[in-house]
Amino acid sequence: MRYHFKIKLCFRILFCISTIFLYECSKSDVQPSSSPIINSEGEGEENDIMTIDSLLKPFYDSFIEEMLSRGRDLSQIPISIVFINPGSQNGAGNAYCGLGYANYDQSNTARVEIVSSPDCWNNQTYIQKENLMYHEFGHALLNRGHVFNFFPNGLPTSIMCSQICSNFQVYSLNQEQQRSFYLDELLNEDIEMPSWADEKNYSQTLVVDEILENNEWVPVTVFDNNVSDNPYSYFIEQIEYTSPNYSLGISVIQNSNNNNFGNWYKDFEISDFANCSNLVAEVNIKSTDFLINGNINLVIDLYDDLDSDEEFSRRFAQGEAIELGGGFFKIQTKSICIPEVTKKFRVRFYVKGDSETNVYFDDLVVNLYE
Ligand SMILES: [Zn+2]
Repeated sequence: MRYHFKIKLCFRILFCISTIFLYECSKSDVQPSSSPIINSEGEGEENDIMTIDSLLKPFYDSFIEEMLSRGRDLSQIPISIVFINPGSQNGAGNAYCGLGYANYDQSNTARVEIVSSPDCWNNQTYIQKENLMYHEFGHALLNRGHVFNFFPNGLPTSIMCSQICSNFQVYSLNQEQQRSFYLDELLNEDIEMPSWADEKNYSQTLVVDEILENNEWVPVTVFDNNVSDNPYSYFIEQIEYTSPNYSLGISVIQNSNNNNFGNWYKDFEISDFANCSNLVAEVNIKSTDFLINGNINLVIDLYDDLDSDEEFSRRFAQGEAIELGGGFFKIQTKSICIPEVTKKFRVRFYVKGDSETNVYFDDLVVNLYE
């Protein structure tokens, strides 16, 4: 039986909830390897010489160790873990970043295939890669199927979630408690719901920002390399807004490098909140033209140090945009279960695309649910 992780391909006009286009800030710089190493742990089987790509081996090793520490030894299961070229998935087109087989091609061996594209691998951080790999090992080594349930706090009930979650982001850095739970759950589907998964209630409004002329928003283009021109420019908009008299604007010109993004950002300190609270942000957006090959978004980044510029978690809007009239839409982004170590969050008004358009952002609200 074949399982798969389906990427949500999104062709929405105004903004996009796709997970695959959204990680250009990744710190990863690895390239898929073409020099596999040999794993001969599957003793006694006919197909006992299995291939494990050297770049994927650390995830396999750590998974085996995590399961062993929970009383299950999976190290004797013969498995191949390989990169495949985009588009070469058997009957799956480009729809999946990873595939896990418990019994590949009736061979009595397991197999994990990872698509060697930037969006599926290179642009992902280590912890995001681990999320994907552990999901595929759930299929391949534990014969687990997909799970489609949420806890009351909004997190998925299993790392085996599909469609309802991003398989790169079931847990993030600093969510050790959640990571540990999801690994326990892989071996015990009947595990009790953890207390951190209880429903969260509205606690307070942290931010209401109507966008004034003098504001502390910072405009920045984030390049994936330093050779291209800047296709984004930034301005205080005085005609298009949802609350007078201003909004923040980003202008995009045609460009060929779609790995750059433009954004206005602002930092907010946070303290004295319950562990595993939820941050819910909303903003109103408008785009003057169809944005080709990109999306407009509201991003919440989390930091464990006030002076840090390196986020440990990044979340984008999901779900429907609500039409407000006048060409404006309201979008919402949730950062669920923010850990106690969080010292500040950064809100980004985010635009990425390679066609000409103007985009406006107005009326940010951020609420805390504890
Ligand atoms: Zn899957």
